[in-house]
Amino acid sequence: MLEKRYLFTPGPTPVPPQVLAALAEPVVHHRGPDFMRIYERCLGRLKEVFRTERDVLMYGSSGSGTMESAIANLCSPGDRVVVAVAGNFGLRWAEIARAYGVDVDTLEYEWGDTPTAEDLAARLKELGDATAVFLTQSETSTGVVCDVQAMAAAAREAGAITVVDAVSSLGAVPLETDAWGIDVVVSGSQKALMTPPGIAMVTASEEAWALRERSRSPTYYFDWERTRKAQAELDAPFTPPVSLVVALDVALGLLLDGGLETAFERHVRLGRACRAGIKAMGLELFSPDDDSAAVVTAVRVPEGVDGDKLVLGLRDRFGMTLAGGQGPLKGKIFRIGHIGWFDVFDIATALAGVELALMEAGADIERGVAVTRALDAWEEPARV
Ligand SMILES: *Cc1c(COP(=O)(O)O)cnc(C)c1O
Repeated sequence: MLEKRYLFTPGPTPVPPQVLAALAEPVVHHRGPDFMRIYERCLGRLKEVFRTERDVLMYGSSGSGTMESAIANLCSPGDRVVVAVAGNFGLRWAEIARAYGVDVDTLEYEWGDTPTAEDLAARLKELGDATAVFLTQSETSTGVVCDVQAMAAAAREAGAITVVDAVSSLGAVPLETDAWGIDVVVSGSQKALMTPPGIAMVTASEEAWALRERSRSPTYYFDWERTRKAQAELDAPFTPPVSLVVALDVALGLLLDGGLETAFERHVRLGRACRAGIKAMGLELFSPDDDSAAVVTAVRVPEGVDGDKLVLGLRDRFGMTLAGGQGPLKGKIFRIGHIGWFDVFDIATALAGVELALMEAGADIERGVAVTRALDAWEEPARV
């Protein structure tokens, strides 16, 4: 018999059956009317989810691909940019920019700290000549969600554009691309958008397009202009992952039918439930203990326990996949994602698995208390 598996990682995330069923449909040709109809609807739905009137460019790529596209289209060798680094994905921005010869100034934090608009404003003032600021709305490696609205305002004040990695946050927590004055937003299919990995997106403001005109970095596949022109005719420049686009269209339909606000509220309540359960077991949170941590709950591994072994054991014994720590946090934390197609019973299952594994490792935990507290916390209505 097929063993039941549970995916509790912060990406890729579980995919609803309607979306999986769409993946099984016959492959359509990308230049025919069947695909064009779906392509158009999917691009329109993306604009709604990004909360923008501008084009959303779609690529067959991982999220990091559109991150790289942002650097390549916006920056030239020697340009000065600021990157907020408070975890693995902030670090990725800095690494990509350096690979393109960009002069990167990092606004460095301890992993787990929350970047602030005040720190950014001070750094931009000090530098005086930064052209762009690169941010991570939800730093998936730590569970921190930062205030990109305030940070974008600080960047604008200093004459720099703001580029936001919203791969794990888009569709999970509020992000108002146009209303908040965010110049560039990148995201991917495999987190809150409830679709398998393989599609990434990016949208850019007029100011960002003007920077692109001046960029001297080489681009071809990721040349935004090539994709913008082609998408305007619903004629993709290269073969898109057509089956994934069909699936993404279904997933975005589900998300928008339920309403983005409903999704945001659910994520807040899932975060509450997860934190309540973790604390009930006497474990210490690594991610913030407040409603901002609606995307990922990161937990310190108790003394004497190896975090990576704990995660592997949950997989081997119960078929549950949680995430370990990355970089300096490897072995020290574990992470439960609650992004996209999750409900409170997913949280309850993950907590029950952790509880069993820790009790077997000798921890003194009252049996069932985590699940009980999680269900109680879920009941409280949330305001986003
Ligand atoms: C998942 C993720 C990415 C993209 O990762 P890929 O593996 O390249 O798709 C980028 N940033 C954040 C914050 C993420 O969570």
